[in-house]
Amino acid sequence: MSEQEKKPVKLAQLEWRDNGQPVSSAFDDIYFSTASGLEETRHVFLAHNHLNERWANLADGATFTIGETGFGTGLNFLAAWQLWQQCAPASAQLHFVSVEKFPLHPQDLRRALALWPELREFSAQLIAQYPTYLAPGVHRLNFAGNVHLTLIIDEASRGFESVQLDDPQRDSTVNAWFLDGFAPSKNPEMWSDELFQAIAHLSAADCTFATFTCAGIVKRGLKAVGFELEKVPGFGHKREMLRGQFAAETPAGQRPHQATPWHLPAPAGQVPTTIAVIGAGIAGATAARALAERNFRVTVFEQGEEPGSGASGNDQGILYAKLSPKPGPNGDFNLLALQFAQRFYTARCADAIHFDGLLQLAETEKEQQLQQHVVDHLGLDADALLAQPVSAPHASELAGVALAMPGLYFPDAGWLRPKQVCRSLLQHTNIHFRPGTQVCSLRQSGERWALETDRDGASESQMFDAVILCSANFNRQFPHTAPLPLQPIRGQVSFAEATPPSRALKIALCGEGYIAPAAPVSGTDEKQQHSFGATFKLKQTDTEIREEEHEENLETLASLLPEIAESFRHQSLRGRAALRAATPDYLPMAGPVAEWDQLENSYGALRKNRKQLIDRRTPYQQNLYVLAGLGSRGFAYAPLAAEVLAAWISQEVMPVSADLVKALHPMRFAIRNLGKNRAAH
Ligand code: SAM
Repeated sequence: MSEQEKKPVKLAQLEWRDNGQPVSSAFDDIYFSTASGLEETRHVFLAHNHLNERWANLADGATFTIGETGFGTGLNFLAAWQLWQQCAPASAQLHFVSVEKFPLHPQDLRRALALWPELREFSAQLIAQYPTYLAPGVHRLNFAGNVHLTLIIDEASRGFESVQLDDPQRDSTVNAWFLDGFAPSKNPEMWSDELFQAIAHLSAADCTFATFTCAGIVKRGLKAVGFELEKVPGFGHKREMLRGQFAAETPAGQRPHQATPWHLPAPAGQVPTTIAVIGAGIAGATAARALAERNFRVTVFEQGEEPGSGASGNDQGILYAKLSPKPGPNGDFNLLALQFAQRFYTARCADAIHFDGLLQLAETEKEQQLQQHVVDHLGLDADALLAQPVSAPHASELAGVALAMPGLYFPDAGWLRPKQVCRSLLQHTNIHFRPGTQVCSLRQSGERWALETDRDGASESQMFDAVILCSANFNRQFPHTAPLPLQPIRGQVSFAEATPPSRALKIALCGEGYIAPAAPVSGTDEKQQHSFGATFKLKQTDTEIREEEHEENLETLASLLPEIAESFRHQSLRGRAALRAATPDYLPMAGPVAEWDQLENSYGALRKNRKQLIDRRTPYQQNLYVLAGLGSRGFAYAPLAAEVLAAWISQEVMPVSADLVKALHPMRFAIRNLGKNRAAH
């Protein structure tokens, strides 16, 4: 589905009965019975998918995936998570993929879940992570290290199709279905042929299903796509319900291609065990953490003496994303990545973050119009939880300093301590951190990779199953990744000691540039300073501090905060310059690396017709991946990009739509080049 076809999200319209039970006004149907909802979930969905027995017998490190129609209040998810915790091995991973067309407002979710004190331990975590902006599309929420919720906000059949990569070997991931959703008599549109087909495409060979209904439309639909059905006693006064298993071979040959298939993954091979991550900036730290939480054994090599030695090493960093006034991969990724990043850091490095608000100020008329379009497009208002439009006086009140322009206020964004974030992320039992160690060469050796490293002149060779390159512009020093179109962008940040006017600034601001509020210099207690900047110098590769760039930063700051900029002019400013790595379309790259020599052979036909479907598997360098091109939004982009990378490696369901997987694919530039009849790289 193209992004344009997405409809704006309608939230669930609820009425509340006297006993606290939520009822859908639109469907005139209940979400669950207050007297017995939890027991009914356990009977219908958990017991009749035989989850207790199946989970108790799972192998260490195995992945189990549940698909659900109708997330609603999340009761089924929470009950499944509770059972999972009771009987699955601690190292196993639970994926719960649920579609929801009419998501509950966060306040309604909280109110509904208050009915289940027994699940409080779980529901509190769901409430804390539930998206603040219920954007159409795919939201990934991770819990307890091994429970992953993929909440797809969309019409059921379209939502399930949107996460399919057109590859039966990868798409057939679901082991059990919870077919919930309002009764077919009240909601016949949902139970469509398209839904049943999408369900079949996603079903693994051992897949089972359970549903509360015995309606003919459901029986016929499931049978037609290859499920065997069994009628069993329903819960309470309900006489019957349905359960069964998938009996068809996935009809791979009959599956329609939805898009150009250039993003097909490599044949599902052996999932790697040992992984080398090269680089310990925010890309390497998030990639290592996402994999370590999935029980991979990760070694992180960093040539600097500590994490965050490159562009992620400033004293203060801003969690910043650019919302877009129109649908499309850039806007969608920014919206989802920002929310994912807020949840990710809050759960893992609370000591290193200051998410107490951020203002994005519209400095010019053009910028004000653009923000207005964003506000209209996303339906943001003064009560929005993600970002609220604010007038200049309101912005001034929030910031604690006089501001002459309106802006967007992000209550849960702010600033963070980059090095501390990277350090905290690397603290995990499955991560071995090797600072001061340069990776000199990479060599494929059979199914594995040999890395030659150097530490203070001592060289060493080590083997890994997979390698992830996370070293920004350095990635191009290896012949395997040299063709990736990464380009350096020099950025200099200035540091100023806090002054009487600057101390009043309460939150992080950004416009043309940014400034963080005064905070003690890392590692000291007393001296308060601000970071502000940063310059943006395309293709410049030196990292000397330049006086003229301090001057440039002061001028940029003066357009936001003239008095504060003036108060800094009397200081001799200090600073730090580093190189970001950017891609031509400013979206990051997260995924596998192509076998460059074979691209022409496989995809040369795109030269004649760039829309041509090429039914051929992408040639990859086996188990070689890259996470790079984060530009100046590394802290916002890296956590979700790392999650995509972890999904590639562990062959689990993707945390973003197939459209976004493609938009982040490292090979997209080569494919675009071929489509324009140019050299692939
Ligand atoms: N599983 C839920 C729980 O644990 O709270 C209860 C589900 S409730 C009975 C049915 C859900 O299906 C509602 O949240 C409703 O908005 C959703 N739904 C209805 N029609 C849908 C459709 N066409 N696509 C996706 N979701 C739909």
